[in-house]
Amino acid sequence: MHINATLINLYNVCKRECWLHANGIRFEHTSDLVSEGKLIHETSYPQRSERYEELEIDGIKLDYYDARNKVIHEIKKSDKVEEAHHWQLKYYMFVLERNGIEGVTGVLEYPTLRQTETVTLNDDDREVITKMEKEIEEIIHAETCPPVIHARLCKNCSYYDFCYVGE
Ligand code: SF4
Repeated sequence: MHINATLINLYNVCKRECWLHANGIRFEHTSDLVSEGKLIHETSYPQRSERYEELEIDGIKLDYYDARNKVIHEIKKSDKVEEAHHWQLKYYMFVLERNGIEGVTGVLEYPTLRQTETVTLNDDDREVITKMEKEIEEIIHAETCPPVIHARLCKNCSYYDFCYVGE
C-alpha cells in the first residue's frame, strides 16, 4: 500500500490502527464519527467549494486548496488540537513539495473550537516525515499487528470492539 496522509495520521495516533487500516481491516463505515466529520465539512463552510479547489496528487487528496495563495485548509471536527493533525497537514505540504509545488503553508481549522492554527514545514519536519514513511513501511508489512495501546482515545476508535473483545 502506498503511504498516504491517512497512514501518517494513524501512525501518529496508534500504530496498531495504522497496521489494521493498511491491511484492509476496516470498520469506519459503522462509525458515527465519519458521518459527523462529513457533516461538519458540509455545514461549517458552505461557500468553500467556490473559493478553494480540490486537489488529488501522489496519494493525497486535499478538499480545500487555495492555489492562488498556496494554502491548504484542513477542517477538523475534533474538540481538541491534536499533534496528529499537524503531521497530517505537514505531510500534505511535504508531498506537494516532492511534486514541485513549493512554498505551501497550511491552516488547521477547528469549527467546534472556533480556532484556527497556521502550520508550516521546516527541515526538521522533512527529516521526521522521511523517517515516518520508512517506519510506516515496516509497520504495515510486519506479519503481526502491533499491540493494543490502552489509551483513552480507544473508546472513540472504530476498532474498539475488535481490539478489546475478551478483555
Ligand atoms: S482501539 Fe485503541 S489500540 Fe485499538 S486500534 Fe483503536 S486506538 Fe489502537
